[in-house]
Amino acid sequence: MILEGKVALVTGGAVGIGRSIALELAKEGASVAINYRSSANEALELVKEIESLGRKAVAIQADISNFDSAKALIDETVNYFGSLNIVVNNAGITDDGLLLRMKEEQFDRVITTNLKGVFNVCRHASRPLMKAEDARIINISSISGLKGNIGQANYSAAKAGVIGFTKTLAREFASRQITANVVAPGFIQTKMTDVLSDDIKNQILNDIPLKTLGIPEDIAHIVTFLASPKGKYITGQVISVDGGLSI
Ligand code: NAP
Repeated sequence: MILEGKVALVTGGAVGIGRSIALELAKEGASVAINYRSSANEALELVKEIESLGRKAVAIQADISNFDSAKALIDETVNYFGSLNIVVNNAGITDDGLLLRMKEEQFDRVITTNLKGVFNVCRHASRPLMKAEDARIINISSISGLKGNIGQANYSAAKAGVIGFTKTLAREFASRQITANVVAPGFIQTKMTDVLSDDIKNQILNDIPLKTLGIPEDIAHIVTFLASPKGKYITGQVISVDGGLSI
């Protein structure tokens, strides 16, 4: 197992892509802190599932968009497991609308969760990560952060911001052998994409060279690779996992 002895934190780890990442990291031997905001039952079920694999897990409620709540999340993780090696910033929201009609609160809410939330968690995690050997930061952006997307000025701005932020962390932490990378999913089957109409889904499928939506495990596998010793020489990169949509 390539992550034996490592401690990982996955934000928004109870459902969707985050759930799959948490499970995959655990399957590879990591102890996992599963952060959730509202999905308490799902988080506790996932803890049980991970424990049934013989691994350790804990569910921690925290709103990562809040600086103090993010601090409590990191403190609780380190207190519980004694260290922190891998941080996966997966939590994210959408609140779509054309710029013409987008409300200020809509913009602020998405930036505060999807961009400032990543800052909040990384800022508080930086000291424990510096104490760990070969630590990893993996931030989940989006194809919308690379190409923009109609109706997602707030989301695209936040996800593009995550890329610049992560490249900076890669430079700042390189001397400590901490890597920082971005995974940019295309369209993955989760709650976030279930809300799209069949018309929009068909249009998207038409544009994807591999002609299929991704599944959460497609993201979890690359995250696990980046988190493992096999990913040790990769830093500051954006890895697209999108069936070719960004070509
Ligand atoms: P999802 O099923 O809607 O799950 C979103 C997750 O974020 C939930 O676990 C939610 O926690 C958590 N979350 C939201 N706000 C939070 C906050 N303030 N504090 C803590 N947790 C918070 O979405 P998903 O599709 O799995 O997306 C996961 C990540 O991938 C997101 O960053 C998203 O932008 C990105 N992404 C997804 C796609 C896609 O096609 N699905 C494509 C590109 C990028 P609770 O449920 O506990 O509230």
